[in-house]
Amino acid sequence: MSAHIVIAGGGLAAQRCCDTLRRAGHRGRITLVCAEPVVPYDRPPLSKQVLAGELDLAAVALRPPGWYADRGVELLLGRAAAALHADRHQLELRDGGVLGYDRLLIATGAEPRRLPLFDGAPNVHLLRTADDAARLREALRPGVRLLVIGAGFIGQEVAATARALGVRVTMLEAMAAPLAGLLGHELGTWFADLHRDEGVDVRCGVTAAGARRDERGRITGVTTADGHTFACDVVLVGTGVTPADGWLAGSGLGGGGVECDHAGRTALPDVFAAGDVARPYDRLARAHGRSEHWEAAARQGAAAARAMLGAGRGDAALASFWSDQYGLRVQYVGHASLGDTVELDGDLTERDFAAVWRSRGRPVAALLVGRPRALPQMRRLVEEGLEHQPQEMTV
Ligand code: FAD
Repeated sequence: MSAHIVIAGGGLAAQRCCDTLRRAGHRGRITLVCAEPVVPYDRPPLSKQVLAGELDLAAVALRPPGWYADRGVELLLGRAAAALHADRHQLELRDGGVLGYDRLLIATGAEPRRLPLFDGAPNVHLLRTADDAARLREALRPGVRLLVIGAGFIGQEVAATARALGVRVTMLEAMAAPLAGLLGHELGTWFADLHRDEGVDVRCGVTAAGARRDERGRITGVTTADGHTFACDVVLVGTGVTPADGWLAGSGLGGGGVECDHAGRTALPDVFAAGDVARPYDRLARAHGRSEHWEAAARQGAAAARAMLGAGRGDAALASFWSDQYGLRVQYVGHASLGDTVELDGDLTERDFAAVWRSRGRPVAALLVGRPRALPQMRRLVEEGLEHQPQEMTV
């Protein structure tokens, strides 16, 4: 097929799409348009090895720059998609350029939520890009007081890396326990205790309500709704992400993510979506949902490429995600919200256990802590368990 395939976005999903297209024999033009001025790179190390100073940007590139030239992938880096005109099969760029396409992949990822409370403060950080990681790394000097707002996975990983750098860390979480919405109170409390054991001051059930600033606008303290003030030198906001789909306004797509089928096909002809921006249909969960995790972005990028070429049925396998904290591997697969019971196997105090959520006696989700090799088998069990759930269940 000699179609011109344009990819809006240049992260993992975009790179996997290019790779799969060429492997599947696509000979036509491929153009990748990315707002960031660098070749696609891997984000998970940003909160881990890159923040720790163990890896630099070149080391986390998904492929070296020459890989794209060798495969005839045209890179438009540092240029952003600004509008989609699906009726004309055109992508408009922020700098006024216009690209015609035969097939388009939307893979613009997600953006961290900002807290208006901190607007304009130079010592407040978000963490999504390599630039963000470099700025934060620079600020995390030994003895500095870091205040992490939000104890999701990004907040927790930054807290863990910062502790290893000799930083004094306080972590504020609005829920009664970290990740309680996903894992429930008992396991959420286990994560709070993990960080406390490593010297993090974890406060749950608190929300940031006010901020003190110095004469340069830097945040020197954050006051919670219950009246406590936490002094700080650096703030990291880790309160989740929203899909980067604002540029699709008026196109008929986007707004809470781009809805698509299991293979990335959207409601618009020849337009596909993959990765953190996409809201694909998950056959096992029987619902559309965004994943915001690495494995799903990689699979969806590849599945969309196959669908663009008219091949493949799309991949229904369940994606899992992982987190690394204090040298410990944490993995999760499935949909815990479908479970009506949860069983623990192993030793929570030894940081070596599995939690398995069941519905009608069958596994529907699992959390593995310190058991990296158990994932493939657990994934199979959870997939089988979900296959056997009644049709009307949704996540
Ligand atoms: P992205 O990687 O976000 O790429 C999207 C790209 O599109 C970006 O370069 C962006 O600048 C660009 N873009 C945005 N808007 C436009 C536009 N209008 N025009 C052109 N380009 C645009 N997942 C895990 O499973 N395990 C982990 O341990 C883990 N750790 C993580 C740590 C960090 C710090 C972060 C930020 C993420 C982590 N993730 C992890 C999540 C994982 O990295 C993401 O799910 C994955 O990167 C999503 O890939 P993507 O291609 O959809 O989007």
